Formats: sequence, C-alpha cells, structure tokens
Amino acid sequence: MSEQVNCPFCNQIGEKSKDHIFQQFFGGHQTTPVCKKCNNFFGHAFEGKFANSFSPFMVTLGVAGIPPKNETTWRNAVIDQTSGVKYDLNSKGEFTPQTKAFYEDGKLKGIITSAAQAKQKQKELEAKYPDSKFLLTENTRLDWKPELNFSIPFNSNVRRLSIKMSVALGSYLGFNNLMDENSRNYLLNENFEEENPVRLATNGYPALDEMRPSLSHLIYVEGDKQLRVCYSLVQLYGVFQMCCLLNKNYDGENFAAIGVHDIVTHEETFQEISPLQLAFPQQHLSQHEYNENVHSIFDKLMLELDNRLGSTNLFLKITNIPPKDNTSITWNGEITFNPK
Ligand SMILES: [Zn+2]
Repeated sequence: MSEQVNCPFCNQIGEKSKDHIFQQFFGGHQTTPVCKKCNNFFGHAFEGKFANSFSPFMVTLGVAGIPPKNETTWRNAVIDQTSGVKYDLNSKGEFTPQTKAFYEDGKLKGIITSAAQAKQKQKELEAKYPDSKFLLTENTRLDWKPELNFSIPFNSNVRRLSIKMSVALGSYLGFNNLMDENSRNYLLNENFEEENPVRLATNGYPALDEMRPSLSHLIYVEGDKQLRVCYSLVQLYGVFQMCCLLNKNYDGENFAAIGVHDIVTHEETFQEISPLQLAFPQQHLSQHEYNENVHSIFDKLMLELDNRLGSTNLFLKITNIPPKDNTSITWNGEITFNPK
C-alpha cells in the first residue's frame, strides 16, 4: 500500500505526495507532504494558469539580468507592426517568430501560422510558377528594441495560489488546521460564490520587506488565539501582495512563520518568528487612493530592481490602472529595453 498523509488542504487521509511551498516555476525546491489528489488538482486548476500569467514578468526580469532558474517563454510577446508577425520572447532575450509573413513579388500577402500552412503555400506557388523553386525561410529580426506591453492579473489563480502557499508553509513548520470552511472552499472548489478570503494588499509592509532580499518571494503566516484569526501575507517579487484571511474562527496556538525564496540564488529559508501583527489592507479605498498605492508599488518595484541589478536596461511604466474591483484586478505596464 502507498504511503498515506493527513492532507493540510482537504483535511483528509490520502496518498502521500510532495507539494512545493514556493512553486517550481519560481525555482522553489522545498516540499511538504500533501495528498496526491489535492496536488494534482492544484496543478491544473490554477498553478499552470498562474505560471502563464506571470511568465511575461519573469521573462522581463530575465532580459533585464535576473534570469529565472528554468528558462521561461512569453508567448506572443510582440507583434511586428510592419509584417504582422508574432514573436515569442524567452528569458535570454531571444525572439522566435510564432507566425511567418508570406510575401509575393516583394508584397506582404499574409501571415502563415503553421509549418503545414507554409508547405501548402509552397506547393501552391510551385504549381503557379512551375519554372521556379520556392524556399521556406525564417524571418527572425534580431535588431529589435520593441516596446512590450504586459499586464499582471490578480485573479482567482493568484489568490488561490497564495492560500495554498500559506497553508503549505504552516504545515511544513508543524502548524495545522489553519483554514476555516470558507477559505478551504475557496481553495478547493472551482465555482466558489461565497466570500472571497484574499485581498490584494496595495499598502506597504516595511517589516516584511526587511526580512527578504530585494524582489524576492515571501510568505508570512500568523495565528492569533486572542483575536481568533489566522491570516497570511504573500509577497511575490517583493511587491505583488496578497492578504489571505485563512480562518475567522481560529482556535489554535499563537504563532508566526515566515518563508523566503531568493529569486537570484534560489536559496530558501523557513522559520518561526515573533508575531508581527500586521495591519489588514484597507477594504474601502477610493479609486484615487488605489491609484496612488499602485504607483507607489511600481516605485518600490523600480527601487528593488535597482538594488538587485545596480543598473538596468529595463524601463517600466504604468500605462493603465483599471478601476479597482474586488474579484479581478489587472495592471498594464509598458516595458522598453535593449535585448542583449
Ligand atoms: Zn488533500
């Protein structure tokens, strides 16, 4: 019989598997035992989608000089406006055409989206001009300094991941039963219609910033017996912060735990610390206050980039902050850089 585990997520006995506290996508390596069912479910429910939505940011950092542990690709990062060809960009700063432009007599005739389509076109042309040979060539532009646009979504994928990371950290350090029914349902059910337990935190947490290297990932979890609450604060790249209300009826012991993943060295530390009793993010921000907060997060991002890189060929600016909204928030940023 396979080894069994009491799963910290679903609270049931199940076949044992290993869950990474910080995602492998981030270069995380420390794992904690969870049930195989939850582990598999999280992978397809939100971890893969989360990775796709954060890959533009990881690629951007890679091009700026902080490569991810595993090479990452930003699919369809940019469209060449003259030909309409779409390019992928990898974390080394290399462009690969996803689609190819098709020219006849020097004129752009269309876009070819697959190798099969290109072969078909080649056949058609050879039938039309039987005396000529048509070769398939790659049209890769390496002399580029394009402006790239990306957005960082704060949707249920990143929210559920934040809960998962927090509970995994607690469990790894021996703290269990951290979730109430509401946050467990949010984590485990695709169609959740009750109270969303995760809030985007646009306020600053200098006490947490001091406990990690610049731009690095951090998980902080605290259980407070007197306030009967267990909550967590997750910082991704130091600046994208999620506050999770894990349990509104917490009856466990007082504790605080912290996990840090350095995005340059990929070193990880996990330890118990004295409770920091952090302030919860304000629920009712005006659009103006929200915009100010988002701008200060971006200022902090640029400062932490400078701290980590010395100088950077990356220039980031915010182009659009959509109306604040409790369920999904997207920031659009614009990047200008010189690929190496
Ligand atoms: Zn489970």
